[in-house]
Amino acid sequence: LFEKIDSEADAPPITQDGTKISLLVNAGLSADLELEQYRQGDGVGLYRTEIPFMMRDRFPSEREQCEIYKDVLVTHPNKEITMRTLDVGGDKPLAYFPISEENPFLGWRGIRLTLDHPDIFLVQVRAMLRASLGLSNLHILLPMISSVSEVDEAKRLIKQAFLEVKSEAMEHQQMLSKPAVGVMLEVPAVLFQLPQLAQRVDFFSVGTNDMTQYLLAVDRNNPRVSSLYSSYHPSVVNALQLIREVSTQYKVPVTVCGELAGEPMGALLLIAMGYRKLSMNAHSLRKISWVIRNISVDDTREILDDILRYESPQDVQSKLSEYLENQK
Ligand code: PEP
Ligand code: MG
Repeated sequence: LFEKIDSEADAPPITQDGTKISLLVNAGLSADLELEQYRQGDGVGLYRTEIPFMMRDRFPSEREQCEIYKDVLVTHPNKEITMRTLDVGGDKPLAYFPISEENPFLGWRGIRLTLDHPDIFLVQVRAMLRASLGLSNLHILLPMISSVSEVDEAKRLIKQAFLEVKSEAMEHQQMLSKPAVGVMLEVPAVLFQLPQLAQRVDFFSVGTNDMTQYLLAVDRNNPRVSSLYSSYHPSVVNALQLIREVSTQYKVPVTVCGELAGEPMGALLLIAMGYRKLSMNAHSLRKISWVIRNISVDDTREILDDILRYESPQDVQSKLSEYLENQK
C-alpha cells in the first residue's frame, strides 16, 4: 500500500467524484526551519510562531522575527500563509518568561497573555507585516480566543501595527497589503458565539487538539487519561459539524488544523461534513491525499448521518475504518 501511495505522490487530492480538497501544511514545530517541507501543499495553514521564541533565552527582536517570518512567507508568494500569534503558556513554556500556575491549561496562555502584554503582541504583528511587504499572502491567526472582546482588542492592535508599518512603507514606496485576520476555534465557549465571531473575522481555523481537550476536560498530554482523549467522541464530532454548518451559513472560510485533519479517519470525517481545507504535518500529506483520491463525497455523506447519531467514539471510529477498508 505504501509503495502505491509513494508512486502516486504527485497526484492531486481530488475525490473520485471530482471534489478538490486543499491540503495545507502545519509548520513551525521543528526547531530547524524545514522550509522545503512548507513548499508542499496548497500553502501553510498553521505556522506556529512559538519555536523562535522557545529557542532563545530572550524575546526575539522585531528584526529577528521579521527575518524568520519572511523566509516562511516567500515559500508560497501566491498562496496563503497563516501565521498564528504567540501561543505560549499551557504546554508551551518560555524559559525566560516563567509562569507558575496550578492549572496552566486554564490559565495565562495564547491571546490572554499577549493582550496583557500588548508590547509583545505589537512587536510580533509589526514583524509579520514588515515581512509581508511586497507580498499579499499573510493571514494572521489568533489562538485561544474565548470571547468577542478579545477579538476586538486584538484587531484594534493589529490595525495600530498596520498603520505604523504602512506609513513607513509609503515613505519607501513599498506595498503593504491588509492581512486577513482569523481566530482559532479551540475553546468550547466559541461554539455558542460563532455568528458573532463570523461577523468579526475573515476566517476560522479549528484546533481539534485543544477543542478535544477542553470539551472533554481531558489533558491532551496526560497518559493516565489518554484513553479518554478522543476527537471521535460524539461531542467533538457534533461540535465540528456545528462549526461547519455555521461557517457555511455565514460564508466564513474554515480550515481544520488540529491533528485530526492528518489522520485518515479524521480527514474522511471532516470531508463528509463538508470541510474542504485541511492543514497537517507535512509527513501526513501523501497519506491523506491518497485517502482523498479513493473516496467519493457522495458516499461519505451517507455515512455521516449515522455517525452524527452514534453514542461512543468506538462506534464513530468503526464506521470510518470500515468505510476506508472497503475503498482499498
Ligand atoms: C490545536 O489546538 O488543535 C492546534 C492546532 O494548536 P496547538 O496544537 O498548537 O495547540
Ligand atoms: Mg491549540
